[in-house]
Amino acid sequence: MDKKTQKNLKKKLESEEKRLTKDLRFFAKKDPKIKGNWRTRFPFLGSDRPSKDESAEEVEEYQKLLPLEHVLELRLKDIDEALDKIKKGNYGSCDNCKKKIEPKRLEAAPEAMLCLKCGKENLQ
Ligand SMILES: [Zn+2]
Repeated sequence: MDKKTQKNLKKKLESEEKRLTKDLRFFAKKDPKIKGNWRTRFPFLGSDRPSKDESAEEVEEYQKLLPLEHVLELRLKDIDEALDKIKKGNYGSCDNCKKKIEPKRLEAAPEAMLCLKCGKENLQ
């Protein structure tokens, strides 16, 4: 991969990383014990004790946010890994077969760790 392409992809990854971190901070906080792990905050916790109705709403809200937190967290992990690979100089090669990942694939998903072929096999 030429330097210019990699630089562009790195920029994409970095802005995506910022966006995801910002989104996560809305309702979750970083787990200080586990790197890359986030914990969904229980909404409004710490304010005055809610009435029964309010606390049912909070539980519902919390349950809605949990899967979203998980999705964002996983995506952020992939992006961090991709940025790490750029640092180490092995970015753009498939984690599975070590061949080059198709440039078009990286263009669409700069955090891709597998080439098209291995990615498909992984899905099955
Ligand atoms: Zn592969």
